[in-house]
Formats: sequence, structure tokens, C-alpha cells
Amino acid sequence: MPQTKIILQCSECGMRNYVTTKNRQNVPDNLTLSKFCPKCGHHTKHEEKRLRR
Ligand SMILES: [Zn+2]
Repeated sequence: MPQTKIILQCSECGMRNYVTTKNRQNVPDNLTLSKFCPKCGHHTKHEEKRLRR
């Protein structure tokens, strides 16, 4: 089960707020989640960024 570490980056301010993992086989598409951004002060779209090893 290849779990890949990913960063969730705020699409509004570019802050990298969350680090999580996902299974590439179950979730082949790029993730876009609504998460709270402490810099923006509200929920924004957070886009997946690949974490370099
Ligand atoms: Zn933000």
C-alpha cells in the first residue's frame, strides 16, 4: 500500500497548512479539500502538493 505524503496548500495565500498522506491507488486525482487557513482566517480550498523526499 503506497502511502504518499502530501502537503495541503492554501489556494488563496499559498500557506502550506497541512501535511497528510493519501493512497495513490485509491485517490489518483489531485486532492482539493476545504480546510481552515489560519492566515486567511476562514476555510479555503487547499490543494495537494507533492512532498519531496
Ligand atoms: Zn490562506
